[in-house]
Amino acid sequence: MAIPACNTGTDPVVVAVALGGNLGDVPRTFQQAIARLRRTDNVKVLRCSGNYQTRAIGSQAGADYFNAAIELETTLSPRALLTTLQEIESELGRVRTGHWSPRTLDLDLLSYGSEVIDESDSPHPLSVPHPACWYRRFVLDPWTEIAPEWRHPLLN
Ligand code: ATP
Ligand code: CA
Ligand code: CA
Repeated sequence: MAIPACNTGTDPVVVAVALGGNLGDVPRTFQQAIARLRRTDNVKVLRCSGNYQTRAIGSQAGADYFNAAIELETTLSPRALLTTLQEIESELGRVRTGHWSPRTLDLDLLSYGSEVIDESDSPHPLSVPHPACWYRRFVLDPWTEIAPEWRHPLLN
């Protein structure tokens, strides 16, 4: 009997990921992140938004941000995908200092099909849809460009 590959489910799921950053050449970092995802097993990049320039929030937040959204198809579990996204953040120079501090790359898992996951109390928290996905303009603008049909499973 074939043993399924680690961390993969059976059916491919369409997911959305938000990209953000305000340190270094952010559009280039986004291209590198997308190229890295294209090379990742069990991940297919379906759609990519344009880049949106937005003001940083908070007095310590630093320079303007670029934001974008991408749509992927994957057989990775939500947690395996989050781990992959965090590896890519690190590879592309993300250093975790304070909350909302300037960063080369932030990759947030916005949605995983229409699944609802609340593992916010875990040592490695995971909430899907991303808790702030529905009210941040800098998330919604690029996301609706690529996936206007997606509906929030709880907020509709
Ligand atoms: P925000 O979450 O408000 O956008 P942030 O992106 O700056 O802030 P990070 O420091 O990148 O926050 O991440 C903090 C933690 O959020 C991560 O360690 C991760 O475990 C957790 N997290 C929970 N749900 C998600 C999700 N859907 N996508 C990405 N990270 C998540
Ligand atoms: Ca974020
Ligand atoms: Ca994040």
